[in-house]
Amino acid sequence: MSLIVENLANIKLRIKNAAEFSGRNFNDIKLLLATKTVSAQNIITAIESGETLIGENKIQELKGKYEELKNTPHQTNFIGHLQTNKIKEVIKYADCIQSVDRLELAEKLQKRLEFENRTLDIFIQVNTSYEASKYGISPENALTFAQQVKQLDRLNIKGLMTIGLFSAETEKVRKCFQLLKNIQIRMLEKDLPVYDLSMGMSNDLETAIEEGSTIIRVGTAIFGRRPYPDSYYWNDNKEANPQL
Ligand SMILES: *Cc1c(COP(=O)(O)O)cnc(C)c1O
Repeated sequence: MSLIVENLANIKLRIKNAAEFSGRNFNDIKLLLATKTVSAQNIITAIESGETLIGENKIQELKGKYEELKNTPHQTNFIGHLQTNKIKEVIKYADCIQSVDRLELAEKLQKRLEFENRTLDIFIQVNTSYEASKYGISPENALTFAQQVKQLDRLNIKGLMTIGLFSAETEKVRKCFQLLKNIQIRMLEKDLPVYDLSMGMSNDLETAIEEGSTIIRVGTAIFGRRPYPDSYYWNDNKEANPQL
């Protein structure tokens, strides 16, 4: 058995145990493969073992693997920071964008989708850790933002996404996930269809599941360590991170 297949079985077990621990149904938690830096061939191994959801962070990778993956059954999510000048490209290759975090981006997506006469599934990304280096709408502005996005008829709001704090202190990480859950509850009361909660990664998926995650995004625990530090992908905001 390949290591990827073995790792997938291991993740399924972790999901199952965490679901049981919190009295939830295993089937209510989807696994999204975070495939940045992962080769198309390794992604195909995972798809052939039954996975269907993948997530990419960079346009070049999204585009680069498209041809090799296009005949395999899967759905591609864009989970990285999206610049408005990349909208046209991203919506060619992604079925869903999980990182909608500002009005300018939402409005430009709407405009482009109108032009192409189509719609797109999206998640609203919330910065639950309040770190300047992380993207996402602030928790305080999330409700107003979601209401504005709802007015944009080409965007189908599916849920909320967050990265949360990277910390070995589980209770601090948990606070981020609880915050997203509370924002979801408030939004559902206002008829915003944010049914999915995309939160939890290799190191904190149990905590995320305990706090209500419906989509965990896992990379390292399935495909191994990436050749770049994570900051390359997540903290590439040069103003917030002058060391970059
Ligand atoms: C890379 C990435 C993940 C997966 O992180 P791992 O720790 O490798 O499981 C999840 N979400 C986003 C947005 C990512 O960029």
